[in-house]
Amino acid sequence: LDLRSEDLQTLEELGAGNGGTVSRVIHLPTKSIMARKVIHIDAQPAVRKQILRELQIMHDCNHPNIVSFYGAFLHDSEISYCMEYMDVGALDGICAKNGAFPMDVIGLITVSVLKGLSYLYTNHKIVHRDLKPSNILINSTGMVKICDFGVSGQLVNSIANTFVGTSNYMSPERIRGWNYGVQSDVWSLGITLMELALGRFPLDAECKSLTILELLQHIVNEPLPRLPRGEFPEDFCNFVDICLAKNVESRPSPDLLAKHPYYRRAERETVDMEHWVSHLHK
Ligand code: ADP
Ligand code: MG
Repeated sequence: LDLRSEDLQTLEELGAGNGGTVSRVIHLPTKSIMARKVIHIDAQPAVRKQILRELQIMHDCNHPNIVSFYGAFLHDSEISYCMEYMDVGALDGICAKNGAFPMDVIGLITVSVLKGLSYLYTNHKIVHRDLKPSNILINSTGMVKICDFGVSGQLVNSIANTFVGTSNYMSPERIRGWNYGVQSDVWSLGITLMELALGRFPLDAECKSLTILELLQHIVNEPLPRLPRGEFPEDFCNFVDICLAKNVESRPSPDLLAKHPYYRRAERETVDMEHWVSHLHK
């Protein structure tokens, strides 16, 4: 499929963030619906071409828990890539309108995200680098998939050099500018799961008045809030605790987490996602 800007008609804007804007579009020649992300990058044409080349790796990333990739192209001074449209949307929007998630749904999200991360890492040596609720998407068949992973080193660099490259979900080692590995994604998963369980960003209570830099310093230096025991299953609380080990060496990899009792329990559980999804406030 050779995607061109002229063949895409915008139907609706879905959101903006991380240096990009995402719209629901129709590809006129095939009548297929897609999500198109447009990224404006102030870079030399050669750099933009390199990003475009690097994005092609996404064609090889095929997994039920990875959002499908349709193609990328340059137009004017922007880079676009088109991906599978996920009709229920991202977890941040769902959480904002519906509050805390039910525990069985959190279990399915945990298993789905870890399978996606493990696939990317094992098969393509890709670490996600930007895992957070807005990069975890759901569709009306109840599938949970991740998107916006760091396939393009050049794109990651171009965005990292701007302020939008910082995120509340970054691990302590990432904030310190140390080496970034698959365990850094596990940290981001831990913060995300805590947020879904509580229905709000876990550090909001003590950090409301902080600037982003102060918040990042807090994450590096201060103990994290823990889930209130008794309100949540013990195995889940323990799972989140180990994802949030400050020291990257003592934090488990996705494959090790897949052996955890909480993960195994969640994997065995059947969740009626279609029912849950159909009752969400939109
Ligand atoms: P960020 O992830 O930093 O919030 P993005 O530009 O990546 O910013 O995405 C903006 C919003 O667009 C997301 O919060 C999500 O709601 C929506 N979105 C992104 N990709 C898709 C997709 N493939 N299908 C449906 N909605 C999407
Ligand atoms: Mg995103």
